Amino acid sequence: MILKNLDNIGLDNFPVAIFGSGPAGITTALELEKKNIKCLIIEAGDEKYSETSQTFYEGKIIGDQITDLSLSRLRQFGGTSGHWGGWSKPMEKYNLELWPINENKLNPYLKRTCEILNINNQFRKSSVNEFFNQIEFQYSKVRFADKFKNYIKNSNNILLILNTQLSHFVGHNNNTKYAVCISNDTIKELRTKYFILACGGIENSRLLLWTRDKNQKFIDNELPIGKYWINHPWTLGGRGVISRKKLKEKLGNDFIEQNYLLHFAAKKELTIKKKILSAAIYMGAKEDTKIYKDIIKDILCVAPEYGKKIARMIFKKDLKCGNIFMQLEENPTENNKIVLDKKKDKFGIPMTKLFYKKSKYTLKTAKLFMEEFGNLCRRNDLGRIAIKDRIYNLEEYEDLGTFHHLGGTRMGKDKFDSVVNKDLKVHGVNNLYVSGSSNFATGGYTNPTFTIIQLAIRLAEEINKRLYI
Ligand SMILES: Cc1cc2nc3c(=O)[nH]c(=O)nc-3n(C[C@H](O)[C@H](O)[C@H](O)COP(=O)(O)OP(=O)(O)OC[C@H]3O[C@@H](n4cnc5c(N)ncnc54)[C@H](O)[C@@H]3O)c2cc1C
Repeated sequence: MILKNLDNIGLDNFPVAIFGSGPAGITTALELEKKNIKCLIIEAGDEKYSETSQTFYEGKIIGDQITDLSLSRLRQFGGTSGHWGGWSKPMEKYNLELWPINENKLNPYLKRTCEILNINNQFRKSSVNEFFNQIEFQYSKVRFADKFKNYIKNSNNILLILNTQLSHFVGHNNNTKYAVCISNDTIKELRTKYFILACGGIENSRLLLWTRDKNQKFIDNELPIGKYWINHPWTLGGRGVISRKKLKEKLGNDFIEQNYLLHFAAKKELTIKKKILSAAIYMGAKEDTKIYKDIIKDILCVAPEYGKKIARMIFKKDLKCGNIFMQLEENPTENNKIVLDKKKDKFGIPMTKLFYKKSKYTLKTAKLFMEEFGNLCRRNDLGRIAIKDRIYNLEEYEDLGTFHHLGGTRMGKDKFDSVVNKDLKVHGVNNLYVSGSSNFATGGYTNPTFTIIQLAIRLAEEINKRLYI
């Protein structure tokens, strides 16, 4: 069922309340429903986009400027999936090494995650050499509100309440007693057994910090809430020309034509050998004719013979040619963090202040990845790569948009290194869980939503165990 606000309705027989109706929140609700467990979804926004709702997402960024926080997420039913790109793939096994769970804990949910995202469960990988794999993404077109609206409307187990925002939780003796919510400008107390905070990669930290401020004895002061915030820097690494035919001979596989983009990712060996983080690159699988001329002109200046060869390859349509975009990993640091600002929203909740500095380690990763990929192309005569000057000179990488908000409530073993445990439960609180990419201990290079959904399915299993086993 879907209600427009939290009126005087009986909520006694809902043992679980989920805050946030993005991919994380909706997924857990769907899985609980399959287990015949009733749950509430409390959503701050309405069914559709509204400027008024988005203003609650404004925040200050101190340090290196990244995409405005009110533009890089959506505060409405379906959450940020309302304008996401849909790129989907499980994380690399080696990117989970610092997590308290490994890929065996996520793999059981691959198939179901693909069903939710309407994508094929196919993520092929082909070794190019000791340092690189060609990798495969799937591209989901699912908008969670569109796909699941009718399902939720007709569900007897899921009650979605719109236009109702969580302010904070109240609890003591290691238990959350109730959530303070605001609906129709009125404060309501919402009581249930299990509380799941799924408000996205910034709000999860903001709301937990506010909860700690409101009742200090409830949430441990030592939990690093808001800290180790990371994203996936997305940048232009350079340009390249690669021979289709030679690449196909080298790879001996057939997923060059099928994908509209061609992706390569670092193997663990590259990160060890070069002492860098993980990263991936992609370029259009179709020739980008607009930049042909520029590239050939550049090559003719420095290597006339090779330039002529390139021109011939273009004539034979044997070339992938164009910009090389990079998806980079960042190392989590205590200094990149979300804190509460002095400025408050209209309900008196402090706004977000994000401290963020780009990392030199990521810049070095961009340079050395591109250099090594260039070596691969040259040694095998696959083509040529030109690294962007500012990356080559280790000056800076350009930020093309920061859309993945990771960390802040990271998973780990104890309160000294993390906020939630391997089951996403807040350390020291029996019945409060956090769901979403704020839980990522490290980010790898892979887009996060696939992993968010795997974790959200796993969370429903955990809640089921807690309720019935
Ligand atoms: C332009 C863009 C492109 C992207 N492309 C990709 C991509 O290609 N692949 C990929 O994997 N990821 C992509 N992402 C990231 C992806 O959108 C997020 O990872 C995903 O939406 C996170 O899901 P979530 O449920 O954790 O958070 P969200 O989707 O942000 O949902 C949070 C929900 O909580 C609600 N909420 C917030 N505050 C409160 C409150 N106080 N009380 C109650 N409810 C509240 C919000 O209204 C929202 O519904 C992209 C993001 C952007 C901005």
